[in-house]
Amino acid sequence: MKTFELSRADDPGQAIAAGAKATTAQQGAEIRFIAGGTNLVDFMKLNVETPQKLVDITHLPFDKIEALPDGGLSIGAMVRNSDLAYHPIVRKNYAVLSEALLSGASAQLRNMATTAGNLLQRTRCMYFRDTAMPCNKRGPGSGCAAITGVNRSLAILGTSEHCIATIPGNTPERETVLEPGDLITHVSLPPPSPGNRSLYLKLRDRASFEFALASAAVVITADGGKITRARVALGGVGTKPWRSPEAEAELTGQSATQAVFQKAAEAALRDAKPQSQNGFKVELAKRCLMHALKLVTQTA
Ligand SMILES: Cc1cc2nc3c(=O)[nH]c(=O)nc-3n(C[C@H](O)[C@H](O)[C@H](O)COP(=O)(O)OP(=O)(O)OC[C@H]3O[C@@H](n4cnc5c(N)ncnc54)[C@H](O)[C@@H]3O)c2cc1C
Ligand code: SF4
Repeated sequence: MKTFELSRADDPGQAIAAGAKATTAQQGAEIRFIAGGTNLVDFMKLNVETPQKLVDITHLPFDKIEALPDGGLSIGAMVRNSDLAYHPIVRKNYAVLSEALLSGASAQLRNMATTAGNLLQRTRCMYFRDTAMPCNKRGPGSGCAAITGVNRSLAILGTSEHCIATIPGNTPERETVLEPGDLITHVSLPPPSPGNRSLYLKLRDRASFEFALASAAVVITADGGKITRARVALGGVGTKPWRSPEAEAELTGQSATQAVFQKAAEAALRDAKPQSQNGFKVELAKRCLMHALKLVTQTA
């Protein structure tokens, strides 16, 4: 790991002023915020990230979870994954979020990992983590070792010829819209839709400490056996958490049957472009979504 300077920010203005001095945006920049450190420090150890200055933002007053007047929820950027998962409002109104958090990483990591850091974690692509290998995300224009290499865990939706991990297109090195000095203060959730049931299902190589090969997050409202509202997102298969309006359209107004779930799953994966080793994910993701829909509507 390269040497770096560490400073502590005691108020948001101080953090923003320090971060704004970076010449490039967020990831890869020479001045970086550090929260739980569970992602950034990993990459620093591998010399993938080599910031000259770290600004410790863990003392900022962003550790609250607060109900909003409209029925939604405000989650402070520094709220730890464990605290969020076990918060009574989250468990009651956003069960899918609580379940997703609790199936991520390990108890120790969840105690450190923050809400903002979770959103800004970088890809797990093994070539991104290996500075000896070409990777357009790490070194723009150097190539993508994963396309002809080990790509079993990588994306099948939203990929490009430049990158098959996260947020590709022509600029895979750019993963966020944040500019130097931009500090996430909180995340707002909309009010839960009345009467909904939600569920998160994660399929992975082992039961803990592992990322999804395929996962499904579903929020369903049903009335008299008919689905009146559906929200569907897939994990582990897209270049980012993959909302599927196609699946939602197939479900809305329909009865909760296996045939309808099958149609929704087919629609969600219609544009999948598997690589040499991850073709199995197409069927796995379909089955994951269908099973999640079955479980959530059984309890409705
Ligand atoms: C073994 C392992 C398994 C894991 N499994 C999962 C999993 O299954 N699912 C999952 O979702 N995650 C998983 N993770 C990732 C983990 O959730 C993230 O590492 C963690 O959420 C990052 O949060 P952090 O606070 O530690 O971020 P840090 O490492 O401190 O920061 C990460 C990035 O966010 C930036 N940042 C942090 N806070 C702010 C802010 N307020 N404003 C602007 N920028 C900010 C930092 O500058 C940095 O770029 C796993 C991690 C490990 C090591
Ligand atoms: S898939 Fe993306 S992150 Fe992985 S090697 Fe290719 S360019 Fe790099």
